[in-house]
Amino acid sequence: MGFDVDLFVIGAGSGGVRAARIAADYGARVMVAEEFRIGGTCVIRGCVPKKLLVYASRFADDFEDAAGYGWSVGETTFDWPSLVAAKEKEITRLSAAYRANLERSGAAIVEERARLEGAQAVRLASGRLVTAKHILVATGARPDYPLAIPGVEHAISSNEIFDLETFPNRLLVAGGGYIGVEFASLFAKLGADVTLTARASNILRSFDEDMREGLRDALSRAGVKFRFGCLPTHVEKRGAALEVTLSDGETLVVDQFLNAVGRRPNTEDLGLEKAGVALDAVGAVKVDAYSQSSVGSVHAVGDVTNRLNLTPVAIREGHAFADTVFGGKKVAVDHRNVPSAVFTTPEIGAVGLTEAQARARHRVVDIYRANFTPMKATLSGRPERTIMKIVVDGETDRVLGVHILGHEAGEMAQLLGIAIKMGATKADFDATVALHPTAAEELVTMRKRAGRYERAEDESAYVP
Ligand code: NDP
Repeated sequence: MGFDVDLFVIGAGSGGVRAARIAADYGARVMVAEEFRIGGTCVIRGCVPKKLLVYASRFADDFEDAAGYGWSVGETTFDWPSLVAAKEKEITRLSAAYRANLERSGAAIVEERARLEGAQAVRLASGRLVTAKHILVATGARPDYPLAIPGVEHAISSNEIFDLETFPNRLLVAGGGYIGVEFASLFAKLGADVTLTARASNILRSFDEDMREGLRDALSRAGVKFRFGCLPTHVEKRGAALEVTLSDGETLVVDQFLNAVGRRPNTEDLGLEKAGVALDAVGAVKVDAYSQSSVGSVHAVGDVTNRLNLTPVAIREGHAFADTVFGGKKVAVDHRNVPSAVFTTPEIGAVGLTEAQARARHRVVDIYRANFTPMKATLSGRPERTIMKIVVDGETDRVLGVHILGHEAGEMAQLLGIAIKMGATKADFDATVALHPTAAEELVTMRKRAGRYERAEDESAYVP
């Protein structure tokens, strides 16, 4: 006792809200501070609005493909401001739901910035001092721009792109990570002329090679122009447009330049260093398996810790923190085999080790691969491939990873995550009867036979 609250949470994003609700359920007196909008990056300017835009972008293919199925779709038009307004309505609804959940749990909400003032006190922007037995830093991350090029102030980040007043008919994207490729894909489908520059020789560095190549080819077919080994060096405003000089000397004139070269943990000006909280080289809060920082009363969850920057992971970490500190049961989050998706068109769904990771860790690795035309593309005639890959430990038969490029790959990865978490073997996959006709049936029908299977030592056996 003697503290104003048992838990003070800084940041009402996914991780902070879950931690606050669960702690309050355990009887803790909780206060949550949020300086922007309740819901955090995922709800306000991340996963949710992005997926809504992705849905919007996919109608373009559907209208075209309908002809192969006997439909005549008349002239179609797309109105960006209508989409932005509809998206805004939905995220406002979700933000209100987050607020209602917090309030129902009994947590108090203060809508202002909060900074640590020591290990057990927080100073609000209004000047009020709140003492807390525990402090949870759940402040997330923000777009970073490591390239300090002249004119970079004319670039936008993923924060601004959702609310542009006019549709960018010509879009330059810098960065080949999740954010870069997702926006490149959806804006290309919505009709923009998109160029993506990246310093590497391909997109999505941490993904499986087959997925990277397959997605690069699919996005190229969708009209995205890739410039690898190339980055913007100079930006100048030319009326409403931007003239961007690239490192290969060429100049592009675009309507918007999206900077998507990474994100940085929000740890600045929070009073962390003064409170003795250790940060790592990129400014993330250093935490142990229970999300405790170097200061016993200060914990951190989500992107601010830069562990695995995904919303469901932040939620897990927030829940585990509340269980550990207020629920009397120590819970550590298992960061292995977390499914993930890249919501491009086609999308990538993945869980577990990539082929390269598996080969680095296991003596014998079996790779099963399928590369086929999805059924829907037969009548539509769309040049499209679905790629699936199963990575198996050749010594134990355990499935180490599954990677999919194609329709609903994210949905498949979520369910495959259960099997992999349970330690499924390839024999378990084989014992599962196919569900026909689906794309996912390939995952249980890939056998050790010509064209569908190759051993680690037989790299040349790839037959699509
Ligand atoms: P990523 O780390 O995925 O990608 C960053 C990109 O910027 C890479 O292409 C990287 O190149 C490039 N880059 C980094 N530093 C520099 C530099 N100094 N100069 C030039 N290029 C540079 O980050 P994102 O910002 O795209 O996404 C952040 C995180 O958000 C993701 O890691 C993910 O965890 C999460 N996220 C998840 C989504 C999902 O689940 N669908 C969607 C969006 C975000 P290189 O490859 O050469 O390193």
